[in-house]
Formats: sequence, structure tokens, C-alpha cells
Amino acid sequence: MTTWETVIGLEVHAQLATRTKLFCGCETTYGAAPNTQVCPVCLGYPGALPVPNARAIELAVRAGFALGSTVSRASRFARKSYFYPDLPKGYQISQMELPINEGGAVTFEGRTVALERAHLEEDAAKSTHVGSQTRVDFNRGGVPLLEIVSRPDLRSPAEAEAYLRALRSLLMTAGVNDGNLEEGSFRCDANISLRPLGSDVFGERVEIKNVNSFRFVRLALESEIARQRAVLQSGGRVERETRSWDEAAGVTRSMRGKEEAADYRYFPDPDLPALVLDEATLERWRAEVPELPAAREARWVEAGLTEYDAGVLGQHPAVARYFDAVCAATAMEPKKVANFVQGEVLGRIGTQGLEADVPVAPAALAGLLDLLAGDTIHGQAAKKVLGLMIDEGLDAATLVKREGLAQENDAEALEAQVRAVLDANPAQVTQFREGKTAVIGYFVGQVMKASRGKANPKTVKETLERLLAGE
Ligand code: ADP
Ligand code: MG
Ligand code: ZN
Repeated sequence: MTTWETVIGLEVHAQLATRTKLFCGCETTYGAAPNTQVCPVCLGYPGALPVPNARAIELAVRAGFALGSTVSRASRFARKSYFYPDLPKGYQISQMELPINEGGAVTFEGRTVALERAHLEEDAAKSTHVGSQTRVDFNRGGVPLLEIVSRPDLRSPAEAEAYLRALRSLLMTAGVNDGNLEEGSFRCDANISLRPLGSDVFGERVEIKNVNSFRFVRLALESEIARQRAVLQSGGRVERETRSWDEAAGVTRSMRGKEEAADYRYFPDPDLPALVLDEATLERWRAEVPELPAAREARWVEAGLTEYDAGVLGQHPAVARYFDAVCAATAMEPKKVANFVQGEVLGRIGTQGLEADVPVAPAALAGLLDLLAGDTIHGQAAKKVLGLMIDEGLDAATLVKREGLAQENDAEALEAQVRAVLDANPAQVTQFREGKTAVIGYFVGQVMKASRGKANPKTVKETLERLLAGE
């Protein structure tokens, strides 16, 4: 039986995080009432003229530099013609021969996937089918997209998913895309073919349209591999076609075949001059590419975090920046900061788009962590103080003083307290001697209680162990 190799190439449509559309001043606010963010330009009225959005172009270029693409000093907009109710002009403004970004790559898990291009285009409107009706919301028409086209370098559904996650993280870190799959700001078309392992020609491919979750991309590709393999194994041929993912049934379904494939008749848009970018501005944007996720993760792991920690804290760029800001302001070692942030702070951070709403400022949290690292307070007290900081907006030192939470670190004083507890609990001491070492937790609890929570629990435990072993 033939062993088949999977070949996958992905086309991602990432919405550029602008306030307004690509060729008009209409807002791009998600969830606005249908057809309230429209004008003659994005509704395709005859004679209305497009004016490029400078911010969208800037974000496309910043993305290009982050992706390591060659950014063109001069690119061109082209018309991609087709007829559909969600495309009132009868064409979409995209880029063809001269895209704004050529080449580039995405690196993840030690692997590099090359890109063909990352070009600018406007989104079409959104059709919703309700019973026998089709409703069209033109709010989405004209929204700026960056289409990022990978080479057919991916070899498995899991790898495709990892690529998508890495690309999303990279674009978010570059500040160009909000990564919101549910709102359609990051969508993927997946191309897939099989070939006999060892062959150097590609097989016929199928394109799976608009899959809107990472998991569905993986599932759709897995199901398509099984379907294509069955076709090939039985001596058949895979047809070049466009398919869609039927989530409920867990299979892909044919949408249109090769015969129905459109000839888009690309040609330069006569309404738009060549997009020529100023060299000095390009240089500035190139210099401003932020530290990217892969480098950030390597830096964190070097500083003592696990890869798991790095994954969790790197999930959102604003969270990553928050963590770095806290580390920079505290004497506590990064791994401990990572533990505290993940355990106590992360759940209270809300993210919206590219912004994060943090419960306490980095410097304030650093103040708390310094008290913890310097043994002024213990972990339980730190949690309590954090809650108070969030509720009252006061700094950690003030609250520790007010609440009397500074811990007792004096070894002699603690030893006296430990002895008192041991003397008061002879039965448990006997149990310990008989091998029931778990009662040490009971002793720690008693000392903590007697000290009204102030005793340094670590010193208490060490003292207990020493005294119990010695007596
Ligand atoms: P088109 O112009 O029809 O969209 P492209 O050459 O731009 O075709 O390719 C679109 C996507 O399909 C790219 O991501 C590319 O990597 C991928 N692709 C091309 N050929 C294959 C193939 N044989 N198997 C899987 N993916 C492929
Ligand atoms: Mg394509
Ligand atoms: Zn408009």
C-alpha cells in the first residue's frame, strides 16, 4: 500500500486593526447594527472613488517587517472581478502582481514555514442566509485585510494548527491584528493535497474555505486527508475543488468544482495610483518591529520559566508586556513572578482586542512581590493584600502595615512558639514519633493560629522538623 504524504498551504485573512475601512472613512466597529457603517464608496456607488487608508498601509508594512517579508517601495492595487451579492462593485480591490509584502516566514517550534506574500485587500460584505432569504450586511464590506499566503510547506494538520497559532501571536504582537477568531478578524482557507511519500511533484489540491477555529482547521484537514486517501487508494483522482467544513457532520463538502472556478480578470485598478512608500518611513517602521513571540519565549525560558509558563503568559501581547514590566520592577526572580501572576493575577485580567485591563499596575504589583521576596509577608498574606490593593487602590506596604500582616521572622521568637505548641500537644508528638509525619501540618497550623497568621511558615516548618528530630 502506498504511503501518502500530506501537503498543506494556508491562506489567512487577517483584519488590520484600523478604526476605519481601507478606502473610505466608515468605521469598522464590530457588532454595529447592520448597514450603519456604510457610504457610497464601500457600497460601490458608480463614480465613488477610493482613497487609501494610511493607517491600514502602515499596519500592512509593519506586519511585513515582522514576517521578514520584502516590503515593496511600490506596490499596486488590482481589481479581482466576480459577481456576488456581497460585492456591489462587481470586483474586490486586492493586489496581484505587485503585492505590498513578498516572501517572509513564520517560525514556530523550531520549524520555519516560508510565505509567498502578504498583500492588502478589502473584505467583502457579509451574507447571512435566513430561511429562503439572504441578508447582506455591508458594514464588513471594505474592511482592510492582510492576506498571508504560505508556501505548501506544512506536512500535517497539527503543524497547520501550530502555524496558525504562531502567526496569530506574531500579528498580535506586531499590533496589527486583534486575533479575534469569533469576530472573524483572523480567518483561514486551507489548501491540501496528498502525494506518494518521496514524490517531488504535488498532487491535485482542494481548498477548504473559511474555517474559523484552530481546532476546526485541524479537524477539517484530518477529515480531508481521510477522504483524499480513500479516493487515491481506490485508484481514483482527487478533483481540484473548493470545499467547506460541515462542523455538525464532521466532514468537508464540495462547494464548487474546477469548471465553476472564476476567472477573476485581475487588472490594475485605474482609480488608484501605484502605492509608493517613502524610504525613510519604511526604515523607521522596520526599526520599530517589536520583540517577536519566539524571541520573547526564548528569553523567558532562559530566565527560568518553563515553556508552559511562556505559552500562558505569551497568549496575549498586553499580558506579556505586563509580565515583563512587573519583572523589571521587582527583585523577585522571574519564575516566581510567573507563578504568582499565573496563579493570582491572570484570572483578573480582561482583554479586549489588543488591550488588556489589568487589576493592579505593574509597579504596584512589584511592590507586593518585593515584600514577598524579602520575607516581609508570606504567600497567604500576599493573596489577601492583593485583594485589598485591587479593592482599595492602596499600595502593598501601606496595607501590610494597616492589617498587621508583616510576618514574624525572628528565629528565637518562632522557636518559643513552636515549643509551646509541641508542649501543648503531647499526643500528636507521639503520633509523629510513631511515623505519622503528616501531623507536622497540624503543628504548623497551630503555630500559625497562635501567631494570628504572622509566623513565617517556612521557618516554622524547619523549626518543627529540627525540634521533632532532635527530641
Ligand atoms: P491560487 O492563486 O489559486 O490561490 P496559489 O498558488 O496562490 O493558488 O496557492 C494558494 C495556496 O495553496 C498557497 O497557500 C499554497 O501554498 C497552497 N498550495 C498550492 N499548491 C498546493 C498543493 N498542491 N497542495 C497543497 N497546497 C497547495
Ligand atoms: Mg489564493
Ligand atoms: Zn464607506
